[in-house]
Amino acid sequence: MRIFSLGALVVLYLTALPVLGQDREYCERIIEKLSAPQMQGRGYVKHGVEKAAKFLEKEMAEIGLKTSSDYAQHFKLDVNTYPGAMKVKVNGKELRPMDDYAVYPWSKGIKGDFKVYTPDLDNWDIEKIMSDIKSLDTTNLFVAYPRGFVKAFREDLLKIRKLGVPGFIELMPREKMHWFVVYSERVRPKTTLMMANDMLKPGSVVDISLNIKNKFIKDYETQNVVGYIPGKVQPDSMIVIGAHYDHLGCMGKGNYFPGANDNASGVAMVLDLARHFMKKENQPDCTIWFVLFGAEEKGLLGAEHFNENLPVPKSQVKYVINFDMIHTFSDHLNVFNGNNEKELFQKLKNVYDAKERPFELLSKENSPYSDHFPFVKNDIKALFLTTFSIGDPLKYHVMTDDNDAFSFEHWDHFFELIKGMVEAN
Ligand SMILES: [Zn+2]
Repeated sequence: MRIFSLGALVVLYLTALPVLGQDREYCERIIEKLSAPQMQGRGYVKHGVEKAAKFLEKEMAEIGLKTSSDYAQHFKLDVNTYPGAMKVKVNGKELRPMDDYAVYPWSKGIKGDFKVYTPDLDNWDIEKIMSDIKSLDTTNLFVAYPRGFVKAFREDLLKIRKLGVPGFIELMPREKMHWFVVYSERVRPKTTLMMANDMLKPGSVVDISLNIKNKFIKDYETQNVVGYIPGKVQPDSMIVIGAHYDHLGCMGKGNYFPGANDNASGVAMVLDLARHFMKKENQPDCTIWFVLFGAEEKGLLGAEHFNENLPVPKSQVKYVINFDMIHTFSDHLNVFNGNNEKELFQKLKNVYDAKERPFELLSKENSPYSDHFPFVKNDIKALFLTTFSIGDPLKYHVMTDDNDAFSFEHWDHFFELIKGMVEAN
């Protein structure tokens, strides 16, 4: 639980609610629901992402958003998953998933006892390494290498590969270990693990026991969740407010990624804004589409699908606001693509400047890492709002990005920025 004094809570509610019409309790419920164990990390294990989508369709219906036919916009994808066993032991000691190790998402499952050879990493000598490896049983051998190796020593890695080893271990600082599911659309023949670099000693050969089960799913049907509010003055003009609702799912049975910040936070903000604009007195001048994208973590697939099936001609889309990770113990709100969309950024800045804010609003270059990107490629004006910056000590793509770690500091300001921007038209 987060620790809040009762007094602080009362002040927050009194100041935030009446002014903004924004509903903290509602948002808390959405984030808690989406990051709960039942949702299985909103990935492709145990239909987690489907459960999330159905829940969000119901929310849109309750808010009263309109739909052209169905809130669901379906598409298909191929994905490698880890629904079952996930056990790694080094010299008999069981390692902790995500704390000590992770599996690269394209890895095939593997079961058995193996050896790991860790070369002297500081004095990388491929001749010595090759002769060491050849003196061992290569059919039963994992080879460890430091992160960054693949680029710097690509040829060395290929040479080792040719010796027929069943897999590799990439060593990295513990805090750099983040999971991902992009590039999981096929299974590659070697099993590759990430591991914290204090788990293996350079210049050693140790026992490793592995039991990792994968399941490749072809043509998994997933969806975006979309609804809209018609504009009262310019119904043919459209604004998109969006966020992805999918996350990483599970890395082995029970090891789910809650994804509270990434991106239950963005989803809650989109629904919060939808509830506001749905009130008769707040009906927007332009039509607003509220789009909860699927399969962002798989490579922006939902946003791409939406762009290929826009509900109106492209010329009628005024702009797109995409939220991705707005966890808010942060002193800044990054606006990616603001440097390219200066006019659009200025609209936001005008609202920001209207009063004192406890964070900085930072205009940034474009970034290819969230759902605004397919819109930008499609020549539609789009901004990506996030409190995340690379290198932040945030809980990013780990199993502790959960509801208890979430903070609503600045939430009412972020809400107000978008509300003001839409109202300014
Ligand atoms: Zn993510």
